[in-house]
Amino acid sequence: MKTYNILNRNAIDEIEKIVGKKNIITESEGFFNYNHDEFALDEIKHNPEIVVKPSTTEEVSDVMKIASREKFPVVARGGATGLVGGCVPSFGGIVISTERMNRIIEIDEANLMVTLQSGSTLRDFYSSIKRKKLFFPPHPGEESATIGGVISTNAGGTRAIKYGTIRNFTRYVEAVLADGSIITSGGKVIKDSTGYSLLHLLIGSEGTLGIITKAVLSVLPEPEDMITLIIPYKDIKTCLTGVPSILKSSVRPLAIEFIDKKVIEIAQKYTGKHWPSMQGDIFLLIILEGNKEEIEKHCEIIADICLNQGAIDVFIADSQQKQDDILYVRSMVYEALKFETIEILDVSLPPDQMATHISSVDNISAKYNVWLPTYGHAGDGNLHTHIMKITPGGDKITDWKNIFMEIRNEIIFDGIQKGGKISGEHGIGLIKKQYLEMCLGKTSIEIMKKIKQAFDPLYILNPGKIFDPD
Ligand SMILES: Cc1cc2nc3c(=O)[nH]c(=O)nc-3n(C[C@H](O)[C@H](O)[C@H](O)COP(=O)(O)OP(=O)(O)OC[C@H]3O[C@@H](n4cnc5c(N)ncnc54)[C@H](O)[C@@H]3O)c2cc1C
Repeated sequence: MKTYNILNRNAIDEIEKIVGKKNIITESEGFFNYNHDEFALDEIKHNPEIVVKPSTTEEVSDVMKIASREKFPVVARGGATGLVGGCVPSFGGIVISTERMNRIIEIDEANLMVTLQSGSTLRDFYSSIKRKKLFFPPHPGEESATIGGVISTNAGGTRAIKYGTIRNFTRYVEAVLADGSIITSGGKVIKDSTGYSLLHLLIGSEGTLGIITKAVLSVLPEPEDMITLIIPYKDIKTCLTGVPSILKSSVRPLAIEFIDKKVIEIAQKYTGKHWPSMQGDIFLLIILEGNKEEIEKHCEIIADICLNQGAIDVFIADSQQKQDDILYVRSMVYEALKFETIEILDVSLPPDQMATHISSVDNISAKYNVWLPTYGHAGDGNLHTHIMKITPGGDKITDWKNIFMEIRNEIIFDGIQKGGKISGEHGIGLIKKQYLEMCLGKTSIEIMKKIKQAFDPLYILNPGKIFDPD
């Protein structure tokens, strides 16, 4: 186990000189907003010794030089919307919050690339490119997440089925390493076979290899039109059986999501918005994009496939308002269930294993009498199971702490057995590292540790995340 030094007055004074007095927090009352992320359990909360809010790459670099000289642990913090405790400063030390590094530096319409500081939020990014009629396909659900955060977790979201994850759209990053040196990798290029890709090592590294300060992301022209289909089915098996036929067809939807009616009823009540159908037990939500003619044709193809595969009906939301309402209900599912949620998992499976995994989850739910609502990205096999503090009948479970780990283990083991991965998009962070070896094998983790050693020999960057120090 590594040990670190406690921050001292001299170091705090030096850091204050770099970023200015109003851009540091050293009093514990101010740590409340910086000691957790969206993972629900209070047990993982941990205060830093200082929060630092730099505005430039050079300031991050100067702070890192002090941290490595003094052996202080450092955790990068973006929007803190992560669900695995990734930005929690478990060893105290320095939190570098990127909240002031929020400049969208350039929208390069000729190359279809946007350069931005890593603390820019997805919300600001989406709205700035929309004004130029540009489109960024990946859509991780929470728009207060930052560019640094989504790159560091290789975030996914609903649209990965057609366009892939954040990795597919990240062309370049600038990052500050543990010793304060600044590196860049990638460029405004689509193809790049120039040596080992440090860019792709940094993507998904959860702040353990470097602090991302700037990025270049690819964008696309905005599609002419979008349409959302809601397709009810009598049960999950029938619903998921139809998905491979959609994927084999000539139409590649922007999103194929499945979600059960009980979850939608709760989200509908929570948002006050309308969901177009309450038939059946489960829905597919399909989004199509393109030009008007193309969409109409694609809509017919998808409707035919679904109705032939046992769909009860097909509802088409063609107006902007109807689509916005549907997507709002879907996006608020997490908030609607949050109060009773202990954890939300993101097991990623070979798509043909989804139905059998969900049936295992149903068995686990029955065994422990715990409600385990499962929904997610039907097109790419990435499922979200909420481990709840209530029974399927809605009664509170008082001793949930005694059974929670067993339930989580059983779901994750089942996913791994079916050839899946323990995280499709949220990352490993603090709370999933005990499953990493089972999922990846010892040798892979040994190689990862050597990579960590090369980037961060003192082990000061986000210690205790992804795997423990030896
Ligand atoms: C309602 C809701 C819906 C969500 N939906 C999705 C979804 O659809 N798909 C999905 O993938 N995720 C989803 N998430 C999870 C979360 O939004 C993502 O993990 C997101 O990528 C986190 O970004 P952040 O800026 O909040 O990062 P944080 O939570 O602040 O940090 C996450 C990790 O990134 C590191 N990090 C942050 N900034 C930097 C940086 N500049 N340099 C280096 N490391 C950094 C942190 O140290 C930490 O390890 C959802 C979360 C919520 C609450």
